[in-house]
Amino acid sequence: MPIENPRSQTDDIAVRLDLLRAADEGKLDGLVCPKCAQPCVSVYFTHPNEREYRTWFICGNCGFEMRAQNTGFPPHYSRERDRTIEQAAKDRRLLATDHRS
Ligand SMILES: [Zn+2]
Repeated sequence: MPIENPRSQTDDIAVRLDLLRAADEGKLDGLVCPKCAQPCVSVYFTHPNEREYRTWFICGNCGFEMRAQNTGFPPHYSRERDRTIEQAAKDRRLLATDHRS
């Protein structure tokens, strides 16, 4: 799974690989955030087209976001964690920027 983030620094890569490894092992919640160091990162998936899956790591605390492109079907993919529709909407900027939670 190549990491799509040109801003990555060497130190970040090891941390990011840890996140990817955790997702591979099925740890999808409570991962430690590389930015704020809180165990607030959850894993989500998008499925933009038939052959493409992406794995997202999103921190609920600081908003850290990392995307990895999968070469195949993510082993721990589940529909409950699929955010394809939300992400597509975000990509098209159809959603208002204020999220009421
Ligand atoms: Zn964070």
